[in-house]
Amino acid sequence: MISPIASFIRVPDGPVGVTILGATGSIGMSTLDVISRHPDKYRVIALTANSQLERLVALCRDFKPQYAVLVDSNAAEKAGSLMKEANLNTQVLSGIEGLETVVALEDVQQVMAAIVGAAGLRPALAAARAGKRILLANKEALVMSGKIFMDEVRANNAELLPIDSEHNAIFQSMPPNYLNGLEKVGVKKILLTASGGPFRDADISSLEKVTPEQACDHPNWKMGKKISVDSATMMNKGLEVIEACWLFGTSPDHIQVVIHPQSIIHSMVAYDDGSVMAQMGNPDMRTPIAHSMAWPERMKSGVADLDLFEVSRLDFERPDMNRFPCLQLAYDAINQGGTAPAILNAANEVAVQAFLDKSISFTEISGIIARTLDQVANEDATTLAVVLDADSSARKVAHSMAYGV
Ligand code: NDP
Ligand code: MG
Repeated sequence: MISPIASFIRVPDGPVGVTILGATGSIGMSTLDVISRHPDKYRVIALTANSQLERLVALCRDFKPQYAVLVDSNAAEKAGSLMKEANLNTQVLSGIEGLETVVALEDVQQVMAAIVGAAGLRPALAAARAGKRILLANKEALVMSGKIFMDEVRANNAELLPIDSEHNAIFQSMPPNYLNGLEKVGVKKILLTASGGPFRDADISSLEKVTPEQACDHPNWKMGKKISVDSATMMNKGLEVIEACWLFGTSPDHIQVVIHPQSIIHSMVAYDDGSVMAQMGNPDMRTPIAHSMAWPERMKSGVADLDLFEVSRLDFERPDMNRFPCLQLAYDAINQGGTAPAILNAANEVAVQAFLDKSISFTEISGIIARTLDQVANEDATTLAVVLDADSSARKVAHSMAYGV
């Protein structure tokens, strides 16, 4: 399959208009940090959040967007009053429809898709349909509906640039003509690096008792809670294997997960001639964000220079599937195809939330996902309705396991 990532270059007149979906989150805030360094190049057209209205209003004070969206309608109403009190001209919208509106505005050339979880799918698809440059952090959208998403990107001449640090590194390490198919351009495999998270070395018997605080305490990256727990179970890497299959038009047997605890190499591409191209840098999401926004040019991101003398050594290990059963579940789901990845993703979202709510233990997460995959029928993922149906059935099944109701 040919991937339409960054298939052509557009040069707008004046500053590039940007909508940030998930502006109040970790990736959203890093994006605003990068934009604030380049006021001549970018202007913020719309900022969105789910319910954190005070934080969103504060961002509107700083960036003066034309629109703000709060999905929660009560929060949107309150934000509207706060905007008036602060004499801001930002118009407040609500609901998923509000998100779909602000990705498709004519003044918007780039959409940062940084909502967490399945909630990010519909607005990301709307950005694809509107033919925008999509800066894709929301990996769950591709995991759930990879074919549908890629087809929309292609059909509408949208551009897709990966923000996930590994996929951004792979993109940077690919040959220019990789859209012709990886085998044709001499790419042998993708080496997808993983830090191994906070429990890489922990005694396996101790995992049952770990707390959400311990699971969210990632050794190298500061991220939202959901992705932090996914990193601790390595479901994050599983989701990334699926994401890479769609982005680079390859199959899971061409992707090798490599544990690299220092998170300095962000991933690699191995070629038929024995060459291995790697992208390196400090673990800071502002690098892939700046790269994707400026591509094919480069711009400053605020990230500190990499000091190799301080890093001093790079280590690599094979992942242990007994320690990280979620990684195996993700490989199985992409190999099964159909709606299995959407079911996996939904069950994982519910189980992670239940763990954060202290309703289940860390080690119960994988069991809930496995049993949900067994119980929900796998269908051909041909339409969005089928995918959303699988998502909702899986949520119900996983919820009753995780909360007993
Ligand atoms: P955060 O939890 O920090 O932020 C999530 C954002 O999404 C917030 O703005 C939140 O709004 C909004 N949001 C949450 N639920 C909904 C909803 N139902 N509808 C609309 N908006 C919603 O997440 P991250 O920034 O860490 O991650 C965002 C995405 O990027 C994820 O898909 C993650 O996998 C991916 N990613 C993140 C990386 C990182 O370093 N953080 C690295 C690579 C990928 P509110 O504040 O109101 O709740
Ligand atoms: Mg990643």
